[in-house]
Amino acid sequence: MAKKRIFSGIQPTGIIHLGNYVGAIKNWVNLIEEYECVFCVVDYHAITIEHDVAAFQENILTAARTLMACGVDPQRCRLFVQSHVPEHTELAWIFNCITPIGDLERMTQFKDKSQQHRENINAGLLTYPLLQAADILLYKAQVVPVGEDQVQHIELTRRTARRFNTRYGETFAEPEWMLTKTAKIMGLDGKTKMSKSLNNYIGVLESGDSIWEKLRTATTDENRKRRKDPGDPDICNLYTMHKAFSPQATVEEIDPQCRAAEIGCVDCKKILFENMMKHLEPIQQKATELEKDRDAVIGALEKGAASCREISQQVMDEVRRKVGLR
Ligand code: SF4
Repeated sequence: MAKKRIFSGIQPTGIIHLGNYVGAIKNWVNLIEEYECVFCVVDYHAITIEHDVAAFQENILTAARTLMACGVDPQRCRLFVQSHVPEHTELAWIFNCITPIGDLERMTQFKDKSQQHRENINAGLLTYPLLQAADILLYKAQVVPVGEDQVQHIELTRRTARRFNTRYGETFAEPEWMLTKTAKIMGLDGKTKMSKSLNNYIGVLESGDSIWEKLRTATTDENRKRRKDPGDPDICNLYTMHKAFSPQATVEEIDPQCRAAEIGCVDCKKILFENMMKHLEPIQQKATELEKDRDAVIGALEKGAASCREISQQVMDEVRRKVGLR
């Protein structure tokens, strides 16, 4: 039986942090076996907010090599850069023309981003979910792995597919979303989403010294003010990190030790740091090797884009014909 096709993307912000790694990339690596995977560095999405033009190409390459170092093997999936396949924006424009503006104004992420970027509430921020719909439907992907905050966008993608089909004839199947099961790692304050713009992140490629400094000062269970106060691992972001990086036995030991105040937060963080680095060091080593071999990364992305264009051009031929464009 043919494997189902999956689409997912990541923005080239210059940093891939632990939130990205645990919430998406680790999952991508596992999905490669079971699905036909199309993975994208979404540079068009990244320019909806102000970006460093001079560093942008380097950031794209950093995202790609970090993904490859994490195990997203371009020999076993399609890995490419969004703008290398121009059909993404072409299809997004057609979706713009069939979508009521109210649907876009209701998107929670648009409201959040409009708050965050008050000085730059551009049309791209509003229509961003339609570019996302185009990313997915251009490959007729059947499944999209997402965190809960993205479900609303996949619902819009499904509505967009229905709208297109109703107006122009059956073309797109409605993709399903697949919720990523891993617990969400928050920023170092334990409250906000881990992100580069909030400067509350730990980068996958960060040095051990820097990671320890961040862990050392990271917020734990705030009710645990003194060493002898019992803690609650269920509300501690560091415990969520343990679940992602420490062996199961350690995770199980720490829970009762924390609740009985038998372990202090500094010792708990030291154990986490050791386990985290065991996990990250091989990735960092691989990323350093890839940094020295830029041609290998660029070549893999070119090959991925060429393979994606074979699909996207066919789908756009069909779309243009149905819309009466050619
Ligand atoms: Fe969090 Fe560990 Fe401190 Fe408990 S002991 S509050 S799990 S850092």
